[in-house]
Amino acid sequence: MIEDLRWLGIHWSEGPDCGGEYGPYAQSERRAHYLEAWRRLRDEGFIYPCTCSRRDLAQAASAPNDLDDEPIYPGSCRGRKDGPSFAEPAGVNWRFRVSDGEQIGFTDLNLGEKNYVAGRDFGDFLVWRRDDVPSYQLAVVVDDAAMQITEVVRGADLLKSTARQLLLMHALGPETRIPSYYHCELLRDASGTRLAKRHDALGIRHLRENGMTPESVLALAFRPATSARLQ
Ligand SMILES: [Zn+2]
Repeated sequence: MIEDLRWLGIHWSEGPDCGGEYGPYAQSERRAHYLEAWRRLRDEGFIYPCTCSRRDLAQAASAPNDLDDEPIYPGSCRGRKDGPSFAEPAGVNWRFRVSDGEQIGFTDLNLGEKNYVAGRDFGDFLVWRRDDVPSYQLAVVVDDAAMQITEVVRGADLLKSTARQLLLMHALGPETRIPSYYHCELLRDASGTRLAKRHDALGIRHLRENGMTPESVLALAFRPATSARLQ
């Protein structure tokens, strides 16, 4: 990805390949930061250990909500109070206990006012996985705060995750700086299906190997947004 982005003409002054003031930038080297956040959430009772198996969760799942998203957790373990007895997160899943019915709103810099309801739009989400890896939600919140990120730009498939991350940021304390968010509409193919890894033929690497120039790739990617804005 780094190689393809450079080829496309995008440059950056901080990152895993060039270092910077807020390194290390590889998540695999930032475990101490994530563990510190885990301890804090554990001590303050925001998270609980969950021993539900994948099968338990599949059986309990009601109507599938969003295909991209984790299913709403049925809550079987949410009453557990033994979190503080764990010295390490490994061995069980850890979930954030969301405040059911709480409305979480934010102003997206691209898409405007967004509102989600905890417990309805998403349930108790994973913070640390049984195989001893922090979840995406926890890792990005911890990294954004530690790296003093002011603006997050990413795909609209993560809008709901922003609501989860806001809950995490509040739980981690008032000194956690909250960035602004800009969610981009997703790129879609001619039939309206969003581009994903299975559209290998439209990956930058593939286009590049087939002789396209960076300029023609950028023109292709930005055409729909540009015409929409001109209308
Ligand atoms: Zn459980």
